[in-house]
Amino acid sequence: MYVVRNFPRIFGSIAQHSVEFLFPSSCPLCGARVSTHGELCADCWTAFNWIGNPKCCRCGYPFPANLDLGPAPICPRCAAGECVLDLIRAACTYDDAARDAVLPFKHAGRVINANFMSRAMMWALRDINISPDIVMPVPLAWRRLFHRGYNQATLLARPIAHAFGVPMDLTSVHRKYRPNMGHKNATQRAENIHGVFDVINPDKIRGRKILLVDDVMTTGATFSELHRVLTNAGASAVYGVVFCRVVRAL
Ligand SMILES: [Zn+2]
Ligand SMILES: [Zn+2]
Repeated sequence: MYVVRNFPRIFGSIAQHSVEFLFPSSCPLCGARVSTHGELCADCWTAFNWIGNPKCCRCGYPFPANLDLGPAPICPRCAAGECVLDLIRAACTYDDAARDAVLPFKHAGRVINANFMSRAMMWALRDINISPDIVMPVPLAWRRLFHRGYNQATLLARPIAHAFGVPMDLTSVHRKYRPNMGHKNATQRAENIHGVFDVINPDKIRGRKILLVDDVMTTGATFSELHRVLTNAGASAVYGVVFCRVVRAL
């Protein structure tokens, strides 16, 4: 009777253990055994430069750990009103460890990395009290989507939208194709990105608080341009979260 009553639970447990036996959970970066599918092992976790406190309360720019800057420190750019979005958070800084996670994720189909990356991004949002109406992955031009097969930002945005319990918007903004921005400086990036986004469904944008999601923030030019077009379309707030950000001296 016990077995019959608990059959679904027992069967589920057997199925789960069978799957773990056949396909043991492994760290997506080094292959070491881990207890949870898609999570990092301790060694890989500690290789990242996770952004804690103190950091800029607007853009999340990390300050040296030994500085006591009070409860709401602000960086010079944000103090001068130059923050590209209303709030930005990044899980970690762009360094060798972040690059080794992002490049295969972005260009070589290592989509499993989205698990730990999106969790880290939710962790990065923990100290700001936002309630977005929409989660929007930074759009990819159709030509790139066709070649790559997926938008890496969408893979990160999906679990974040789920965690907030709000829809993910993939259709309201269209991105034109432009050649790669790889080795351009901040001014060239800003020029290259200007006019690249079109809001094609302003009814979905007007009056909404939007959380943008991307894998990397380099100069902030992409966020800045999205902020411009979304605000022009009537968005009431535009936030951003990335897995990693390039940190330059201010
Ligand atoms: Zn590992
Ligand atoms: Zn700042």
